[in-house]
Amino acid sequence: MPETTPNLRKKIKELMNLTYRAITDLSKCKSCGTCVKFCPLKIREFNSEGKAITIKNDKSCGGCSVCYKRCPQNAIKLISIKKDINIQK
Ligand code: SF4
Ligand code: SF4
Repeated sequence: MPETTPNLRKKIKELMNLTYRAITDLSKCKSCGTCVKFCPLKIREFNSEGKAITIKNDKSCGGCSVCYKRCPQNAIKLISIKKDINIQK
């Protein structure tokens, strides 16, 4: 088994503390509803302007990428965040 260097161990620790969250570029969203329909956790909803966003609730997005891959407008990005940080919607 290859030896892990201190730098590699540090990188692994950093990555273990990260998770991912889907965010919407609201200017690109055409309100088609695809992401809302296909999100397996049902945490994509329309906001008051009819644009789809990832809502905050007890389920963590985690960034499965279903919405990201299905959005026909490329309006969704997956951003990395620290696991203990709450991102506003
Ligand atoms: S990345 Fe997955 S879990 Fe997160 S909002 Fe998109 S479809 Fe839902
Ligand atoms: S799939 Fe894309 S364009 Fe359609 S509602 Fe979701 S973010 Fe908006």
